[in-house]
Amino acid sequence: MSKEKKKILITGASRGIGKSLALKSKENGYVVVGTSTSKRGVQELENEGILGLELNLNDDRSIKEFNNFLIKDHSDIEILINNAGITRDNIVLRMSDEEWTEVLNVHLNGTFKISKTILKFMLKKKWGRIINLTSASASIGNRGQANYAAAKAGVEAFSRSLAKEVGSRGITVNSVAPGYIETDMTEQINDEMREEILKQIPLSRFGKPEEVSDLIEFLITDEASYITGQTIHINGGLYM
Ligand code: NDP
Repeated sequence: MSKEKKKILITGASRGIGKSLALKSKENGYVVVGTSTSKRGVQELENEGILGLELNLNDDRSIKEFNNFLIKDHSDIEILINNAGITRDNIVLRMSDEEWTEVLNVHLNGTFKISKTILKFMLKKKWGRIINLTSASASIGNRGQANYAAAKAGVEAFSRSLAKEVGSRGITVNSVAPGYIETDMTEQINDEMREEILKQIPLSRFGKPEEVSDLIEFLITDEASYITGQTIHINGGLYM
């Protein structure tokens, strides 16, 4: 399989889905570069044998430094997973400009800014895989998540447009849209809310990070080379 020695960049690789994917990719023979916003997160990645880099997608200076470093030292990246994510939930009437902007920055603007850099590497190689983590919220909406749902829907539309632009160059672009997955992001959901959510999931449970990373591992292989411009849902039936 041609995955051997391919270099993969995973944003937000220090926890949750990103960490699961980073470990699995390493196990499968990829050279893995992962990011965290903190020095501690970077160190934890390094301890796992993953090249850790600092990146804050809510900070333009951090993004510029990161992109320049990639151009200098990692122009052989062929696979990009725009995974980093945050939530700043609030109903629209109470949502601050900061809550709105930070979520748009990390998900939508960040995805654009990192993809643009890596695309140039991929165009030279005439091969590439971009997977953007979105969410069931983008399709069904979620009370208190107007910022998050809008950002994720934007990422899905961005992915489809980019897929059309670069398909002829051997580059595929897809979105993976999880439902509720057991990570730090869903940890704050209280028992009562969890019960309500579980009633809406035919498989009656939250997903595991490994279940999402297994799907992504398939999408980055040569075997998935005819899949592009898609949003692939993984949500236990929450949205169909
Ligand atoms: P986690 O909260 O477990 O981890 C988030 C990751 O993103 C961490 O590695 C964190 O790095 C990084 N991150 C946070 N803020 C920033 C920032 N400003 N700049 C760069 N990186 C940042 O998230 P999940 O694993 O749950 O989510 C992964 C992706 O999947 C996200 O895009 C999320 O929206 C999406 N998703 C998750 C669902 C779920 O139920 N968990 C459902 C649907 C979609 P660090 O803390 O080290 O700084």
